[in-house]
This record gives sequence, C-alpha cells and structure tokens, in this order.
Amino acid sequence: MNSSTLSFAASSTPETYWGQFEEISKYNVQLNFFERLWAAWYAFMGNDVLATGILSFTMHELVYFGRSLPWIIIDCIPAFNKYKIQNQKIPTAQEQWSCAKLVLISHFTVELPQIWLFHPMAQYFGLETGVPFPSILKMAYQIAIFFVLEDTWHYWSHRALHWGPLYKHIHKIHHQYSAPFGLAAEYASPIEVMILGLGTVSSPILWCAFTKDLHILTMYVWIVLRLFQAIDAHSGYEFPWSLHHFLPFWAGADHHDTHHERFIGNYSSSFRWWDYVLDTESGPEATKRRRERKLAKAQKSQ
Ligand SMILES: [Zn+2]
Ligand SMILES: [Zn+2]
Repeated sequence: MNSSTLSFAASSTPETYWGQFEEISKYNVQLNFFERLWAAWYAFMGNDVLATGILSFTMHELVYFGRSLPWIIIDCIPAFNKYKIQNQKIPTAQEQWSCAKLVLISHFTVELPQIWLFHPMAQYFGLETGVPFPSILKMAYQIAIFFVLEDTWHYWSHRALHWGPLYKHIHKIHHQYSAPFGLAAEYASPIEVMILGLGTVSSPILWCAFTKDLHILTMYVWIVLRLFQAIDAHSGYEFPWSLHHFLPFWAGADHHDTHHERFIGNYSSSFRWWDYVLDTESGPEATKRRRERKLAKAQKSQ
C-alpha cells in the first residue's frame, strides 16, 4: 500500500490488527473510520497481494451466498409464487444443494486464482490501494463504465458460447436449469466461469491501464454490484418494483429468465441494448414484433 499518505509513530509497530488500528487512528485523524479499518488491514498484513486476496475472496463468498439466501427463503414462501416467472418450477432443496456444490468447486479452483492475480496485474497498471478513498461520484461513474464494458463482453462471448461445439462442451452445464434460481448464477463449466469472468475483471484493468486512475475499493464495490446483478438476474422472480420497470434498458430477471427458458436470444448481462440493436431479443413479444416486421416487409414488396 502507498504508505506515504499514512503517518506512523517512529517507535515499534504493533503486532495485532486492533493495535495497528489504534496506532493509525492516533496519527491520522483526517481519515474516516472505514479508511482507518482499511489502512490497518493492509498495514497488519504487510503484504498487499495477500491482503487483497484474502479480503476479496472472503467478500466474494459472503456476497455470493449472502445474496442467494433471500432467494432460497423466498422460494419457500408460497405468497411469492405469483411473482415467479416460471411459477411451475420451484427448485427443490436437492437441486439447490447440488448447484451450491459445483459453484463452490469453481470458486476455489477458477475464481480464487483469478481474484488473486487481479491485484498484481492491476498494480502493474497503476492501481491505487491507499487512503483516503476516492469520492463517491468518481466511483459511480467508473462503475457505470465497467457495467457497459462488461455487458458488451458478455453479449459477444455468451453469444459465441451458444455456437454448437462451444455450447456442447462448455455452456450446456449452465443451461441445466431451464428455470434458474439465485444460486445458479455461477453454475457453469470452469472454462465458462473463466471466459465470462474475464469481462468482470478485465474491464477495470483496461480502465486502469488507460487512465491510471483506479482505486481498489471501486473494484470491490463493482464486484459486489456485478454479483447482485448476476444473482438477481437468475432469481426467477419478476416484481412490479423490479428495476427494469424504471430503467427500461436494464435487463433484470425478466430478460435472462427467458434466455434460460428458450435457450436462444437475450445474450447480454446487464442491459438490453445489444440484443435490441442486433435483433437477438427472445420471448413472445420479440417474436411478435419480428413477425410483424416480416409481414410489413412482405406487404411492401408486393
Ligand atoms: Zn446461454
Ligand atoms: Zn444464466
């Protein structure tokens, strides 16, 4: 970490985490509580790659399973059934359990090294890890850019994964559940997790390489929001208050659930524009629009 922004006492450094925290608090009153917690963690670990690796992997697991849990509970409450998009298909406990097992295996074998490698790679391009944190506004616009970049990567690579041989050998696993549920967001072949994960990890790295302006906290918030997006898109639930009713270009569960049900179309992750512009939208409404267009064209040519 860039310790030039931190002041320490000249005497010996404390050995415990809270000792570090107290020491940093004493000499850096300008920092807020979270910045002190953060600085103490990196100072305590004394190894940035290790500090980021442990923190980000733990965070990823907590958010992944933490965010899936409410959907598991909702599946058990009959009152929510009317909001389930494919309401005949509530996942069984057995299905959820075998799904969680495969997800855990790929987290430890594929995502862990990817998460671990992120820090040294981004640091090479000038990633900032020190305190103070960047402003909320800066984090917000950078994350908005990552969403757009990731969605583009996701659209093209996911569409490619639906090409015969790639589908058969890689993507078929993810399509095992034609009615998805939260936990199934990362239920996929390790190769797929690697390919699609590249969009999530390399968008900020690209940004950092070009602008030299990225703080790792922005990366953390981005990963959390991206996980929320992926899990919610697989939840199988569509509510009157779902985000896409207010932001018409937001994909949401409505968009991705149809992809699982029909196996074709709706390839993007967060937004609807790629599928709209390239005419790969799926579902009865899109089919109807396509038919109408064809009819109009045929009438015109007569
Ligand atoms: Zn697919
Ligand atoms: Zn999916």
